Amino acid sequence: MMRIDIATLFPEMCDRFLTESIIGRAAKRGYIETHCHQIRDYTLNKQKQTDDYPYGGGCGMVMNAQPIYDCCQEIIRQVQEQGRPRPHIVFMTAAGARYNEEHAKRLASYDSLLLVCGHYEGMDERVIEALADEEISIGDYVLTGGELASLVVADSVLRLQPGVLAEAKGYQEESHWNGLLEYPQYTRPEVWEGRAVPPVLLSGHHANIDAWRAEQSVERTKNRRPDLYEAWLKKEGKG
Ligand code: SAM
Repeated sequence: MMRIDIATLFPEMCDRFLTESIIGRAAKRGYIETHCHQIRDYTLNKQKQTDDYPYGGGCGMVMNAQPIYDCCQEIIRQVQEQGRPRPHIVFMTAAGARYNEEHAKRLASYDSLLLVCGHYEGMDERVIEALADEEISIGDYVLTGGELASLVVADSVLRLQPGVLAEAKGYQEESHWNGLLEYPQYTRPEVWEGRAVPPVLLSGHHANIDAWRAEQSVERTKNRRPDLYEAWLKKEGKG
């Protein structure tokens, strides 16, 4: 059963998300385990300060290495105490590798992950060098903190774990699993605001439905994401 730990200055923010909905239900049923940790608890100064001015000047504050390091060491100890291997450690940074479904599939195969969130101007580079197995960015934009990024990674990885979704088909037929975007989806009523559901979906003819969906999936990808389409053609040996 996979375990994910998040080290952050805002554990309540992360916990709130991880205890709700599909992920929260799966955790309550024992299919996954999540823990959020307060980096501030590991400061050694009276003021419980976790950041300081950047060497060399510049705006904003930089998170100190020591509380992050000590927090991660304690998490590693707790994980290993359960008889698990050392967690795979991922630092959330705007300068990391850009995240996609292939990363999610790979990260989903680890026994446990430790996701580390920065804030302010970021983290002292030396703690990243000392601990990170990899750095991940969730996209080419800058967030105020790593919390949302860590939740994006946790959510996309945990939904691939057995027992979280009702069946594996739930994620294997979705966008990005095989390199394509998903076909359009419809539910009741048959006609809404003058817009009818494509008749093939009401035909009950499963082979025709599958063929229509496959065609829509390819068309959508070609029109909306030519970059993904080209990569898919190559993978299929059609490029
Ligand atoms: N000064 C940093 C830079 O220019 O790369 C940005 C720091 S950002 C304001 C504060 C924190 O938010 C980072 O330490 C990181 O943990 C997180 N963060 C910001 N953008 C992110 C992204 N695209 N992906 C993952 N984490 C991000």
